[in-house]
Amino acid sequence: MKLSWKQYDLHLRHAFRISRGVEVVDPVMIVSLEHDGIVGYGEASPSPRYNETIQTIDAFLKRVDLSHFADPFRAESIILYVNTLASGNTCAKCAIDIAIHDWIGKKLGIPLYKFFGLDKSKAALSSFTIGIDSPQMLAQKVHEAEEYPVLKVKVGMENDREIIGAIRHVTDKVLRVDANEGWTKKEVALERIKWLQDENVEFVEQPMPASQLDDIKWLRDKVEMPLIADESVIGLTDIPKLADAFDGINIKLMKCTGIREATRMIHTARAMHMKIMMGCMIETAVAISAAAHLAPLLDYADLDGNVLITDDPFDGARNVKGKLELNDSPGLGVVLRQ
Ligand code: MG
Repeated sequence: MKLSWKQYDLHLRHAFRISRGVEVVDPVMIVSLEHDGIVGYGEASPSPRYNETIQTIDAFLKRVDLSHFADPFRAESIILYVNTLASGNTCAKCAIDIAIHDWIGKKLGIPLYKFFGLDKSKAALSSFTIGIDSPQMLAQKVHEAEEYPVLKVKVGMENDREIIGAIRHVTDKVLRVDANEGWTKKEVALERIKWLQDENVEFVEQPMPASQLDDIKWLRDKVEMPLIADESVIGLTDIPKLADAFDGINIKLMKCTGIREATRMIHTARAMHMKIMMGCMIETAVAISAAAHLAPLLDYADLDGNVLITDDPFDGARNVKGKLELNDSPGLGVVLRQ
């Protein structure tokens, strides 16, 4: 098995502002796993929130030695080995996991959703994210997002009322809001959520910092709106402690190390009566397609990472008016554009 990797710089349609900062260009690493004449693609999109960069991905991938595994069908053993190389590095691990799955699908000649026994017509509807901006730009972004039936809006700022007001001025579509840990006082979070409950908002993601779990439990008892964990949930072992604080979890392949861990998380959260969402970072069609193949298992999808960029080097699962459309090519169903 031969592993190689290459950096791609993705350009955002709009500078993307959330409560932690602003991004314009987003680098990702595309991994190729070659064996038996078949190439499986994987992707790592690093997030400073989880201490990963292009440099940490490169350093991690250099440590991976797959020479003692017969072929990618040894997925369980390979992923266990990769996990023992270092803690963290979740997106670098994810790139290998996705590449293994793409390879397996290609070798078997079936798309991944069939490998998982899923009905692609049941894929959850994806939201489209509107980054924080001036009221005028927000109105323009909502206009540009006309084809998407559900919008996700970044809040958690001083001027939340201005942001939601500007959006509600131009649309009455269902909104999902993401505070990205931006409300640090529980009384403020309570006041904002109670107000959002009257603004046709479906749920709120990560209202408060992950480190303030007791405050989030306090909050959950006082509001009707579902609270979805994002920064509070990295992988499988985080789920049990969240059951009293959140109504659901937002799984991201880049946080959880990949498709294999994501499926375990989905079934674990179901057993705890939690809602399941899958989100993404700024990613190409490689990682978006990987998540989209699991979309029939979800309540909510937020898989718009490659719609927010202008230069996706890959073509794969498509987001058409919020509907995730999977093709029937084997594996992820992605091709590198010429
Ligand atoms: Mg989020």
